[in-house]
Amino acid sequence: MLDVAAALAAYPRVTLAPAPTPIEETARLGDELGIRLLLKRDDLSSIPFGGNKVRQLEFYFGEAQAQGADTVLITGAVQSNYARAAAAVAARLGMEAHVQLEERVPDMGETYYGSGNVLLDDLLGAVRHEFPEGENEAGADAALGALAEELRAAGRHPYIIPLGPDNPPLGALGYVAAAAELVEQMPDLSRRVDAVVVPSGSSLTHSGLLVGLRALDQRVPVLGICVRRDAVAQRARVARKSAEVAGLLGSEGIVTDEDIQVFDHVLAPGYGRLNDAVFEAIKLTARTEALYLDPTYTGRTMAGLIHLARAGTIEAGSTVLFVHTGGTPALFAYEPELRARLADTD
Ligand SMILES: *Cc1c(COP(=O)(O)O)cnc(C)c1O
Repeated sequence: MLDVAAALAAYPRVTLAPAPTPIEETARLGDELGIRLLLKRDDLSSIPFGGNKVRQLEFYFGEAQAQGADTVLITGAVQSNYARAAAAVAARLGMEAHVQLEERVPDMGETYYGSGNVLLDDLLGAVRHEFPEGENEAGADAALGALAEELRAAGRHPYIIPLGPDNPPLGALGYVAAAAELVEQMPDLSRRVDAVVVPSGSSLTHSGLLVGLRALDQRVPVLGICVRRDAVAQRARVARKSAEVAGLLGSEGIVTDEDIQVFDHVLAPGYGRLNDAVFEAIKLTARTEALYLDPTYTGRTMAGLIHLARAGTIEAGSTVLFVHTGGTPALFAYEPELRARLADTD
């Protein structure tokens, strides 16, 4: 078994999230789905609204500080939790943050552009930039690179939080650490839990957790719910990222093809867009557990879990661990869309 703590110690890290985050049983929601449902509360953190990005940022800010950076740059969707979390961490560490927000979700109104995470970006004092395309990762990275050049010319020391697919997945190390945390909380994880369910976007969360669990000899299936790309594209991404994460730990080959499971039943009509299943998942979770899920990530992931439970892919009576990755502020950015659906269904 790999000494995960020793492997992680090779990478500079800023501790942001007091570990461990709680694991809670959500019995009322579990009953609705005919399963035993546990939630890993990664939405709780010292950085408010927490989320999976706080774990990932521990390693990016570690590298930024090791390089003597005073400014961080990041790109994401308008309602990016990543950009907001980076702005929050920068504020806490006394650094300047530049967030570049991409047009990734079509046909959204004013609330989407001003509320939720955008409001928090502004409160945190982040410098906001706009990028007109949402599916041009290379273009967004190039624009950020140009901005970094300008800042450098002005005497600052910028660090770009590199998210494009061609960058080493340092942030995934945060979820390798989360896997170790999980196994410490539940040493017999693989015997007690039949599946772990996570959102699969950039796949740093999915790949990090998968590699971490396998490195610790835990064979529990990790089910990724697609939030941005279809299952074919996402499977390739998870495979590539998992191999890279394993490489960062010096344990190449630890994740096999059969380990990679991705499901896209609830993805349509696409990234960041509500559908009936996602709305139902958000409403059901609020009304059974008083827990909030967001339309882009956690609501979609819960909708994916509900689909798999109803379809029997997750068998009745199974024990499932759902990783709540945060994202709560985005809920408020979807107020008009949520209100219209509440008015329709209640
Ligand atoms: C970014 C995000 C995800 C997706 O995580 P990846 O590591 O990019 O796959 C899931 N949930 C929330 C709340 C997020 O902000």
